[in-house]
Amino acid sequence: MTQASKHFPRCLSALCLALLLSLVSCGGGGGGGEDGFTSSDYQILYTYNASQLGGHTIRWARVPIGVSAGAFPDAPAAFNRWNSASGGKVSFNYSGSSISVAYRTTTAYCGLTTLRWNSAGQIIDADIIIARNQGGCAGGESDTLAHEAGHAIGFLGHDAEGLMNPFGGQPISDQESRFMTLLYSLAPGTDINGKLGKSRSSSQIYNKSGNKVYTFTIQ
Ligand SMILES: [Zn+2]
Repeated sequence: MTQASKHFPRCLSALCLALLLSLVSCGGGGGGGEDGFTSSDYQILYTYNASQLGGHTIRWARVPIGVSAGAFPDAPAAFNRWNSASGGKVSFNYSGSSISVAYRTTTAYCGLTTLRWNSAGQIIDADIIIARNQGGCAGGESDTLAHEAGHAIGFLGHDAEGLMNPFGGQPISDQESRFMTLLYSLAPGTDINGKLGKSRSSSQIYNKSGNKVYTFTIQ
């Protein structure tokens, strides 16, 4: 999102918007599973995460996740929104540096996250860049930090409503809470294809050895 307007999307590129529209069109069925998660929950997990690795989950292998954000007094409260939303499944400490957060002078975006994961579904590291001037970014720096944190821990897209909508300015939705709770209830690399209606394929192929590394950048 640019600083020019409250109504500009956090995600500006045509590619990104096309991705958003394609994701919005993906519905899911209902029905509760024995683990308390519905087939719809698994479909959402696939859409915003496992679709990037042939239907295998992508997450940090260990929690708490170390965050280096010394220049951001608001970071712990912003990151910890995900701790609350996931019922404690995701947690952070502020002495590590697995996720690093830094300022940049830019008007191209409010926040930008680049993360890397290996082919076993383990996130290796993440870098978050926060625009110095958050004027025009809905929810301000706190919401931008929380939104980018969502990407850095595995929400790999944008949904229609909630904190991870591309415009910002909304709290974490129930769907997003269930997404993160389910993601961090499953081991990295968990095959969820059996929970979906059909087998999927991806150009990024799961490999138990984790010998390949993939990079993903999103606003
Ligand atoms: Zn985003």
